[in-house]
This record gives sequence, structure tokens and C-alpha cells, in this order.
Amino acid sequence: MSRDLVEKRLLPTLANPILSRLDDSAVIEAPGRLAFTTDSYVVDPLFFPGGDIGRLAVYGTINDLAMVGATPLYLSLALIIEEGLPFGILDRVMRSVQDACAEAHVNVITGDTKVVNRGKADKLFINTSGLGIIAEGLDISGSRARPGDRILISGVIAEHGVAIMSSREGLSFSSEIRSDCAPLNGMVNAILEAASESIHSLRDPTRGGLATTLNELANQSGTSFLIEEASIPLSDDVRGACEMLGLDPLYVANEGKLVAVVSPEGAERVLNTLRGHPLGLHAAVIGEVVEGKPGRVTMRTRIGPTRLVGMLAGELLPRIC
Ligand code: MG
Repeated sequence: MSRDLVEKRLLPTLANPILSRLDDSAVIEAPGRLAFTTDSYVVDPLFFPGGDIGRLAVYGTINDLAMVGATPLYLSLALIIEEGLPFGILDRVMRSVQDACAEAHVNVITGDTKVVNRGKADKLFINTSGLGIIAEGLDISGSRARPGDRILISGVIAEHGVAIMSSREGLSFSSEIRSDCAPLNGMVNAILEAASESIHSLRDPTRGGLATTLNELANQSGTSFLIEEASIPLSDDVRGACEMLGLDPLYVANEGKLVAVVSPEGAERVLNTLRGHPLGLHAAVIGEVVEGKPGRVTMRTRIGPTRLVGMLAGELLPRIC
């Protein structure tokens, strides 16, 4: 049955020359410096406005490769399926995986499937690992933020978390809020072409939201970050939904946004390049790296005074990705 599952349901959708050999390992040529990452996806529900677990499992891993400046090439895909999951659901998820791979120009080249007894998993869990190549001389790292650098975000925040939360709770807002889940490798490519020297750090503010990412970057680089609340892009719909749900949008997950820490000379160029990309229309400079206590993030609020923006304690929304 397991062989049937792979050969009849998975391979026809994901087929490519490397995967279809069906040896115990995929065999590839590896040119130069590689980036390698892995992530597991347990999102609940499997389908939500703007995406599903299949898209998330591809984009999430690709985006982590893109955040070190790597061009994603290959993915592994491992499925843990709860007995009784309808084939129709699995087929839909696999089509999403394949669509997402095509969109991001990657292939699944190895994989695994396990079926566990009813109640031992919840419908479907996915793990993907990703392999990418990094151009010679490129060094993008959270440790490279320096005082004077500008902090950019590629668009409006908090859409993914609010989309999941509202579909889980069966809430409907005046207009449906959709997850922002998207592959960031194309946009990263564009900013690297425009100003690779100026880009010090990239990170996607996923679980824990923008606030957590900024704290991580400030900690890793031993600098302080000062951000402006009024500059942070946020749609009226998401703002309203967050107020109603009692969420602070700074801590709500994104799945198609990036934070870039850029030298002052390159900031405008990177900002304009982001805004010229369909995924970066609402990109903004939201603050600056400053001298100060290592790891501290402060925000000048709309009404004037500054406040500390701490790391998220505990998990705001479990099974968000
Ligand atoms: Mg990440």
C-alpha cells in the first residue's frame, strides 16, 4: 500500500528526473557553497485563506534558504499521514506542493511517507529540508547588523497568523484576511542583484512575528534596534482583527515577509527594489540599528514615548506553521 501511495499518488505529481530514479538516495552535483535547512509543518487547519500546509512546507524552507542569500535548488519532502486521511486531501496538498515548487523553481528530489494509526497524528504533518547554493563572497548573517544600518520590512505584517486564527475560530471579518505565504527567493534575488554589498542581515519574521525577529537580530549582532511604530506597515483589516482577537500584531506570524538590515548607503536602493517587486509593494524602512545595550529593541510609539519591545514569552498561537 505504501508503494502504491508513492507510485500512484505522489510521484505522478512531483516527478522529475532525479526523484523518479527511486534509488535510496537522490544523487546530485553540488557546485560551490551550499546552504542546508530543515523545518516541520503541523499547521492546523490544513487549508486556510491564502494557502495550505503544502505551500507552507515548500515556502517556509525555501525562505530560510533565501535568508542567507542562497538560491534554493532542491527539497526533501517527508509526510506523516494519519490513517483515514482522505486521498482527495492528500492529492490537493501534493498539487499545492508541486505548484509552489514550480513557482519557486525548485524540485522535490527525495522523500518519505509514513502512515500512523488513527489518533497518533493529526491528519497530516510534513517535514521539508532544502538545499541551496550561495554565491562566492556573499556573507549574510544576523550577526552583521551595525549601528547606523537601516531596518526594512518588505510589507504589511501579521496576515498569516490572523488568517490561521480566524479560520480556526470560524471568525469572519468584513473582508477575508488571507495568509501572506509566498516564496521570497525571487525578491531576495532582486535585492542581491541591486545591492548585495549593502545587505548585512535577512530574516523572515515567521513564528513570534516581527518583534521576535528584531530581538533575535539585535541579540545575535550585539546591537540595539530602534523602530518607529508609525512606519510599520499594517492593513486596517489586520489591525482591526488583532484588536478584536486581543493580539499584538508585532508578535503575529508572517510567511511571506522579510526583514533586511542594510547599510545606510544602500537602504534607498534596497527599498526601491523591494517596492518594485510584486511581494514588496508596501516595503518600508521601520528603524535603525543604534549604539546601546546589546540585544535591546525599543519602539517609538505613535504618541511619542518609546517602549521596550521584548521577546515573545511562550507561544501565542500553537500550530501556526
Ligand atoms: Mg526563518
